[in-house]
Amino acid sequence: MGDATQDIEALIDLMARLPGLGPRSARRAVLHLIKKRGRLMGPLATAMQTVAENARECTQCGNIGTADICDICASEKRANGEICVVEDVADLWAMERAAVFGGRYHVLGGTLSALDAVGPEDLRIPHLVRRVGDEQIREVILALNATVDGQTTAHYIADELAGRCEITSLAQGVPIGGELDYLDDGTITAALRARKGV
Ligand SMILES: [Zn+2]
Repeated sequence: MGDATQDIEALIDLMARLPGLGPRSARRAVLHLIKKRGRLMGPLATAMQTVAENARECTQCGNIGTADICDICASEKRANGEICVVEDVADLWAMERAAVFGGRYHVLGGTLSALDAVGPEDLRIPHLVRRVGDEQIREVILALNATVDGQTTAHYIADELAGRCEITSLAQGVPIGGELDYLDDGTITAALRARKGV
């Protein structure tokens, strides 16, 4: 048995590492959890344990789920000939929140970066090119962030896929340097509907 206060401090320290939580809000969150031990903290601990044991990347698209193939890739309804390319799983989840896209995704896991020595193979770009053939993709929608690296990556992918399918990108509404995850659903919807050819 560790020292009780020390155990709680250790929990606060861990929570404070979460994005969006600093030491102060971590302390408040932990206190709240302890007060709601039965109704919230217990179920949360169980849910975390389950996800920690089972979470994995979809071997097809890179989405995070608890099976080798995610629900979106497993669904025949999503095989509509469209793939939406995003940088991060958070962007995929943001698109799904907006509930405006009916196709499948491809998560790159980052952007090309000469500085950080990130090349096409690191981003599953060869895998994307294969999927376009294997899944009879008609349109690839590039939903990459409007950062310099995001746009460099978009151009690289457009070159790789040139002549194989239609290539579009999200339209205005995505602010410069903006990240999909921070956009409201309406903005994402507008940007997807008004997508333009690359
Ligand atoms: Zn998937």
